[in-house]
Amino acid sequence: LLNCRVQTVVKDLKNLGFKNITTDYIINKEYIELILQEYNFELPSSTSSITSANIYNKLKDPLNPKLLESRPPIVTIMGHVDHGKTTIIDYLQKSSVVSQEHGGITQHIGAFQVITPVSKKKITFLDTPGHAAFLKMRERGANITDIIVLVVSIEDSIMPQTKEAIKHIKASGNQLIVAITKIDKIGNVKEREKKIERITNDLIANEIMVEKIGGDVQVIPVSAKGGENMDLLEESIILLSDMMDIKTENSKNTMSEGFVIESEMKSAMGNVATILIRKGTLDNQSILLCGNTFCKVRSIMEGAEKKITKALPSQAVVVSGWKELPHVGDEFIQVKSEAIAKKYISKREALIEVEKNASRVEKLNEERYAESIRRKESKSKDDIDDIEDDDATDNAITGPKMVNFIIKADVSGSAEAIKESIQDLGNDEVQCCVISSSVGIPAESDLKMAEISNSEILCFNLENLPNDIINNKHGVVVKKFNVIYKLIEIVVETLENNMKKIF
Ligand code: GDP
Repeated sequence: LLNCRVQTVVKDLKNLGFKNITTDYIINKEYIELILQEYNFELPSSTSSITSANIYNKLKDPLNPKLLESRPPIVTIMGHVDHGKTTIIDYLQKSSVVSQEHGGITQHIGAFQVITPVSKKKITFLDTPGHAAFLKMRERGANITDIIVLVVSIEDSIMPQTKEAIKHIKASGNQLIVAITKIDKIGNVKEREKKIERITNDLIANEIMVEKIGGDVQVIPVSAKGGENMDLLEESIILLSDMMDIKTENSKNTMSEGFVIESEMKSAMGNVATILIRKGTLDNQSILLCGNTFCKVRSIMEGAEKKITKALPSQAVVVSGWKELPHVGDEFIQVKSEAIAKKYISKREALIEVEKNASRVEKLNEERYAESIRRKESKSKDDIDDIEDDDATDNAITGPKMVNFIIKADVSGSAEAIKESIQDLGNDEVQCCVISSSVGIPAESDLKMAEISNSEILCFNLENLPNDIINNKHGVVVKKFNVIYKLIEIVVETLENNMKKIF
């Protein structure tokens, strides 16, 4: 960073009065700041609290209350597996703005918009339940959605993943609507009412403030198969969003902001990303800054084919022109010029470098401290418990055994979702390690990487996986999945198989 030789720094430190200086001497923060002053170098984190995570916030304009206008609500659907999330999305997608213009054909882009049957207002739905981008944003304390529709099957009531979803909803502070699905499965009206009553009570037991007890959470019984009450569900979302008064700024001069919800390399178009706009209008001249990349917008598409010239708040559009693929869940902001984008990207990279060094020093300090404690302890130890302790110390020094995986999926949203779901699996003894996660059929390079890193390749939703990939010459294990929880089960099993057998 200082752009000078380490020996020069050592010499200068000695001149400044530091004793016993070596090249791996660790200096505390206060001294670093003093020394950097000698070199006329400004330590970013000492002058302000700018970090690589928040540096782009400087470029954001606060919302101007005078320019606020309504925008359509953004909705995510959550619930237990098999309770009917996908079926609801399929039903809604058939009536989406784009599919109506394209004879009912829609392609997965991560989100879609519908116009409600009665009030004729727009709603944006994220089309992957519990979308990776949604989960990532929540981790960072930001909210990509305004409303969550919690799906509960009339046959099962509240199940483990419903409870998980309730936990997330409470933590995120999102507004909630409950859809009781599959009501067509219970033909007898009395029995149906009894079941709805039971589910409502179960919701209350889980501290959901439903309307029945004077709360504001609407409970809508629907059938996504037959379409019964689906219009009511859509209108309930509008009712709630009107009450929430969802607004954003969208004047001529408003710079747009939003989130990346999908990204992929397309052979004909290069790097493309589906982005969800939260503020401002996007057009063909816009320049977007996002993470370590930027985009000179080349084309904007609604759905997979329809070219448009402008995109409005709450609209999800596919944008081409990205230098590098942006990450799912990252926030983008519009900037005035390519030069500004480049300047901020390199500032951010420098900060990342500084932060990495800082955490390296911290880790080194911790390791040294642990090592000195270990030495002290081992001196005063009895020979008798040596065998057991050696084992324990082994683990403390080397850490858990890493079991490596490479993820290949159909779309980046799934790849990210799988990575998120498995990367923290493990315990003190074995730990899951995701070497890489990307889109597409495994290539020769993936197989080589798997061979070198001793990884298994997990393929998700990849149709027509060639046989010579599955039975590859590298001897790499390639497994195929279509359901995420099955994949997680197998990863857990593999981790267990890697634990020391205690018999
Ligand atoms: P997900 O795992 O939550 O996305 O659930 P799916 O949407 O895949 O639904 C699971 C199963 O329930 C599928 O076989 C659906 O056809 C069925 N299903 C979903 N909604 C309904 C409904 O409203 N009525 C009926 N009869 N079946 C439904």
